[in-house]
Amino acid sequence: MAERSGGGAGRCDALIIGGGHNGLVCAAYLAAAGLKVTVLERRDVVGGAAVTEEFHPGFRNSVAAYTVSLLNPKIIRDLELPAHGLRVVERRAANFLPTTDGRYLLTGEGRTQRELARFCERDAARLPEYSERLEAIADVLRDLALTTPPNATDGGWREALPELLRAARVGGRVRRLDMRLRRELLALFAMSAGDYLDNWFESEPIKAVFGFDGIVGNYASPYSPGSAYVLLHHVFGEVNGKRGAWGHAIGGMGAITQAMARAARARGVAIRTGTAVREVLVEGGRAVGVVTDSGEVLHAAAVVSNLNPKLLYLKMFAPGALPAQFHEHISRWRCGSGTFRMNVALAELPDFTCLPGRAPADHHTAGIIIAPTLGYMERAYFDARAHGWSRAPIVEVVIPSTLDDTLAPEGQHVASLFCQHVAPQLPNGESWDAHRETVADLMIDTVSQYAPNFRAAVLGRQIMSPLDLERTFGLIAGDICHGNLSLDQLFSARPMLGHGNYRGPLQGLYMCGAGTHPGGGVSGAPGHNAAREILGDFRHGRLRRVA
Ligand SMILES: Cc1cc2nc3c(=O)[nH]c(=O)nc-3n(C[C@H](O)[C@H](O)[C@H](O)COP(=O)(O)OP(=O)(O)OC[C@H]3O[C@@H](n4cnc5c(N)ncnc54)[C@H](O)[C@@H]3O)c2cc1C
Repeated sequence: MAERSGGGAGRCDALIIGGGHNGLVCAAYLAAAGLKVTVLERRDVVGGAAVTEEFHPGFRNSVAAYTVSLLNPKIIRDLELPAHGLRVVERRAANFLPTTDGRYLLTGEGRTQRELARFCERDAARLPEYSERLEAIADVLRDLALTTPPNATDGGWREALPELLRAARVGGRVRRLDMRLRRELLALFAMSAGDYLDNWFESEPIKAVFGFDGIVGNYASPYSPGSAYVLLHHVFGEVNGKRGAWGHAIGGMGAITQAMARAARARGVAIRTGTAVREVLVEGGRAVGVVTDSGEVLHAAAVVSNLNPKLLYLKMFAPGALPAQFHEHISRWRCGSGTFRMNVALAELPDFTCLPGRAPADHHTAGIIIAPTLGYMERAYFDARAHGWSRAPIVEVVIPSTLDDTLAPEGQHVASLFCQHVAPQLPNGESWDAHRETVADLMIDTVSQYAPNFRAAVLGRQIMSPLDLERTFGLIAGDICHGNLSLDQLFSARPMLGHGNYRGPLQGLYMCGAGTHPGGGVSGAPGHNAAREILGDFRHGRLRRVA
């Protein structure tokens, strides 16, 4: 039984469970408003899935999240991240997709249409309209990313009115779209990425290069309904003001979260690493603090969780502490990305058969997609469902050392391998511990089919199966977004209707992680929005400062 500490050192206005990037963002905003805030992080380093590590002597790389686009520009400004050391650079090309017939597609600013024309004149001619429509819908998402979704409420008018106003604001944003774009919006929310792209384009490589975004972290076929939304989720970002672009943080993703931690500390946040929370304390139906793994008890007016909702609600409450209906519903929260992540230390750059050369070139800075068609991606999914992993998997290779010389010794490189599809849980109760190395070999062989020097160039590797992602980062079933980005788990329903406004089912309990709107990715948006709601509750007397 935990010992309870009363006031004094153990008391603060807000306790954040988890020092992932959203926890840090939330903490920084709360502290900037004058609150006393403590972040409790289980690992020895803050940043959650956005961290950089030395994984092989002399070679550093982002361990999980590996590329920047979704990080919200308002948050970069408000937290003054550049002043705290953050520098993001753009890739010189967006994507490089080797095709099965020995050709390639290299997309990016000023080159995509020309490249598409090499495959299909008609598709190239359609590109401007496709991009314009997708951008118009992505703009809606950008506007909504920092908005608290209208909350479904079963209270009276007093509770309902503010939510109706919020809903009206969202409706107003959608009404600004013309009818053609509203239809597009519906298509992108409801359709599969495959069906959506089939309507626009004919050429298989073109559909594949765009369709890849529909299966990133999405354990599904590109023809599964809802995958078009996942595609949209991955294009609403921007880098240094360029919409839809992807970039690299110098020093890896850990550079983002280290800058956030510095920003939070500069505003007075106390960050305690190596401090895992074991239980949320509940008194009189109210969250009043936490108990750490070492038995320390800390009290706060607001307890704010940065964790996957399943991890929080199924593991950190005494039996009966949560409303039964809530507990039952959250136990059905769907998680599992189908992602396998590797880092490799490379003696030399991959030399692609379709575009030979080991000297750094634009295509080496791109997201290199090994998945030549949507059909290939669909087969990868079904194979993983039947077998546990796809024997012809999808691999995105990003080589950040082509843009950042702080990561590897001169002349050598590091590559991130983001691989789909693998089953979050293997069939027949088998463990990922038994298959991790086999699957890692398969991923390297898959890349080597297109760049034959790749296998021999590998000097060292780091492997993250879904089980490793769960053990290391607390990502349940390896889910990179803290829960599927499906229509039933988005917006007001993230993580559950009635709790889409960052408030948990108990007074004093809040959520600020990727399991809330707008979901996964290193955006900082859930942390930003949760802070606004918590500050509102302090302002309106629903929370009282205790520090
Ligand atoms: C393999 C992979 C690749 C990805 N690629 C990209 C990408 O390229 N670009 C991108 O934008 N996004 C990417 N993502 C998604 C993105 O990283 C996540 O959605 C994002 O990090 C979620 O942030 P968060 O702060 O909400 O939670 P997390 O990053 O999950 O942080 C939660 C924190 O809580 C801590 N914690 C857990 N349990 C406890 C406890 N009991 N007590 C205290 N602390 C605890 C964890 O250690 C962790 O630090 C990727 C994710 C993964 C896993």
